[in-house]
Amino acid sequence: MTDATPGGAGGSVRGWGDGTRSVRAGEPAPQPGAPLRPSPVFAAPYHLGDLPPRSGGADAYARTEHPTLRVFEAAVGELDGGRCLSFATGMAAVSAAVLAVTGAGDRVVLPADGYYTTRLLAREELERFGVRVEYVPTLEIEEVAARGDLAGAALVVLETPSNPQLDVCDIAAVARATRAAGAVLAVDNTTATPLGQRPLDLGADLTVGSDTKALTGHSDLLLGHVSTTDDRLYARLKAFRDHTGGTPGAFEAWLGHRSMSTLDLRLARQAATAAAVAELLAAHPAVTGVRWPWRAGDPSARLAARQMLRPNGVVSAELADEAAVGRLLAASRLWTAATSFGGVHSTLDRRAQWGGDAVPAGFVRLSCGIEDTADLVADLAAALDAL
Ligand SMILES: *Cc1c(COP(=O)(O)O)cnc(C)c1O
Repeated sequence: MTDATPGGAGGSVRGWGDGTRSVRAGEPAPQPGAPLRPSPVFAAPYHLGDLPPRSGGADAYARTEHPTLRVFEAAVGELDGGRCLSFATGMAAVSAAVLAVTGAGDRVVLPADGYYTTRLLAREELERFGVRVEYVPTLEIEEVAARGDLAGAALVVLETPSNPQLDVCDIAAVARATRAAGAVLAVDNTTATPLGQRPLDLGADLTVGSDTKALTGHSDLLLGHVSTTDDRLYARLKAFRDHTGGTPGAFEAWLGHRSMSTLDLRLARQAATAAAVAELLAAHPAVTGVRWPWRAGDPSARLAARQMLRPNGVVSAELADEAAVGRLLAASRLWTAATSFGGVHSTLDRRAQWGGDAVPAGFVRLSCGIEDTADLVADLAAALDAL
């Protein structure tokens, strides 16, 4: 293969704004006659000719690498500020980040209130292999780190803002403690997206994302990734992916890259809507516990403003009970019952129906889409008044 080395219009995109970076990150230098964005290359094996496998960039077999994946990974890696490895789903990426750096007898610290399947991965898979797992709430991890209680840990995982309760912890403070303890720090950055927060710049060793959510943002594909600035960790994760086979195919990588181009625009609309929705919910007598880390007075606001780069469209709140959520959904035309978040459609998810999250029956996570803010607010206001 002679594809040009990706690097954002043939060079680094650092210094450009989010819109430019969303479009141009990872792109090869322009070549006359070539498409603006490389087309997907659909192949499992490649002609070897008389080249020994993996000599000087020649593609041989797509499980280990392929041209479409290289361009997509270059793009995501530039937004993260590291080298990216893409995976077939967010959980494949989380699994790689956790399993590639731990072994029997190791101590692993996970968020007690983060994505539920990450806890299932620990409880039902990791623990079978003799890994000792501890669960610490997002709001307590800084204190645990400050006390020196991360000493002896091999891996610490943060999820900030946590999903679904949107608590925020101080990545840089925990990173100092994990460095001192000799542990690896991984941050699940799914809710923030690589434009909203750069854990690697804050001292994390790994940043992990479910790109099923806002990064690709159209509710039509599954992807995940891990990025790092550490070449040794990169090599370990790359080997893990080669051995376990969570590599995305060309269609997903191409569509993920195409979808990512609009990330800046989508986040801007979603955040503007979230600001209005959070105010509407907070002012309504049928709603309590509204959370959006950029709302003045939110318990996460001070830290979010300091460590995050921009807001997004995920809001959480509490209605009276399950029946109230049902009535709200029935009265709404634009807020659709669906799990996941970060897509172009506005959705509302009653989290307790999934089990796992220790949240009240009426707790909902709202994901603001990219429909008109005024329409979404008017529709939600009418549905709330029908309660
Ligand atoms: C959705 C999600 C995941 C898992 O991603 P999938 O693409 O569904 O496998 C992991 N972490 C967080 C915070 C998520 O929201």
